[in-house]
Amino acid sequence: MKRIVALGGGESGVGAAVLAKVKGMDIFLSDNGSISPEAKATLEQYGIGYEEGGHSMDRILNADEIIKSPGIPDTAPVVSEVLRAGIPVISEIEFAGRYDRAKKICVTGSNGKTTTTSLIYHMLLNAGLNVGLAGNIGKSYAYQVATEDFDIYVLELSSFQLDGMYDFKADIAIILNITPDHLDRYGHNMQNYVKAKFRITRNMSEQDCFIFCDDDMVTVGHIKEIVLRAKMLPFSEKHPVKEGAYADEEKITVRYGGKECIVPTQELSLKGKHNIYNSMAAAITGKIMNITDDVIRRSLATFKNIEHRLENVMSVGGVLYINDSKATNVNSTWYALECMDRPVVWIAGGTDKGNDYSEIAGLVKEKVKALICLGKDNRKLHEFFRPILDTIVDASSAKEAVEKAYRLADDGDTVLLSPCCASFDLFKNYEDRGRQFKDAVRQL
Ligand code: ADP
Repeated sequence: MKRIVALGGGESGVGAAVLAKVKGMDIFLSDNGSISPEAKATLEQYGIGYEEGGHSMDRILNADEIIKSPGIPDTAPVVSEVLRAGIPVISEIEFAGRYDRAKKICVTGSNGKTTTTSLIYHMLLNAGLNVGLAGNIGKSYAYQVATEDFDIYVLELSSFQLDGMYDFKADIAIILNITPDHLDRYGHNMQNYVKAKFRITRNMSEQDCFIFCDDDMVTVGHIKEIVLRAKMLPFSEKHPVKEGAYADEEKITVRYGGKECIVPTQELSLKGKHNIYNSMAAAITGKIMNITDDVIRRSLATFKNIEHRLENVMSVGGVLYINDSKATNVNSTWYALECMDRPVVWIAGGTDKGNDYSEIAGLVKEKVKALICLGKDNRKLHEFFRPILDTIVDASSAKEAVEKAYRLADDGDTVLLSPCCASFDLFKNYEDRGRQFKDAVRQL
């Protein structure tokens, strides 16, 4: 019997363990932190052995294969030991892919993954297809492979998930963009991060499709260096394309298989330049999947934005409050600022991942009237923006930030929470940060 150990008792580890069990393998799950009561209940329901608060190395080193949670870096001592012992380490996606015959539409990128994955899912559901949504979102892929029977999956894949993928093959792969993020996990080497993203194209053949942003120099630069057999479908806001999609002032034009589908930009439910990119990637996927132009258009018009992504909270005294807590890197905040058309009181800060703010300096100068720094250590923000902004203040809670924003904003302004940073210094996660922000706004 094949011996599998799942490292990490979160969503992906538990899902992988359930799938291994259902497939009749000898499975054990090990987590050096604590495992949530819900996860334990699932493990017990399936009769899966587990441990928490430490790793039994003898048992782990006796495994034939290790399924590692994407949250555990390769530098963790347990992983180093496993690798030294020559035991293969894979991701939950690689594992589940072995048992899944469904068509796989896979989305990666530095920003826009969740939005685009959900948008494609919405479109395929509208087309009446039997489709599942998984990956870095909702119930794990492995759990669904064990318990559901979908014809198609739309999978959101982070670079950490892609790191552990070898034989997995996407039928449609999308790279939305590649900008610096998570470099701490890639030896501060951008090239390593780019390579991780491109793992999404592994094993693709001529029948498969690769959708990418032709305006993204990092992506395009890397394509030139590799051989890709898949059908190449670029999208661009800068120039027309033969096959793929492009956007001009008024519309998106999608071209595939000798046919053309037009979607007026005004109809798109998601606003902002970045969402035109996301919508183009989704529309190309729709065409490949043979979805009618009518359903593609309707889906792009009716999709409801997900929480914490440029989410309009409410207006108070003529001031609009926007929650973009998911903007955890500089590039996502660039797109948030880019689509602001009123003076902005900007709330930013948190755990810095090696940010270079020069990318947004121009937009800040043009659109921001005051900065509220919401982090434990705000020195870097002060130092960078002091020459550009007259008003910079500190806040150490979402409530304090909102109250200060309320005082600084005038009728007709926008208060934007778009932090550029991770949230772990003051909050549990970005969702917690976004919710506390919204609660504080509602109490104004
Ligand atoms: P991810 O899942 O890749 O983190 P999300 O869809 O959750 O992406 O969006 C994260 C943040 O990035 C949000 O602030 C959102 O407004 C912004 N964003 C969404 N799409 C893009 C894009 N194509 N380019 C840059 N920023 C984007």
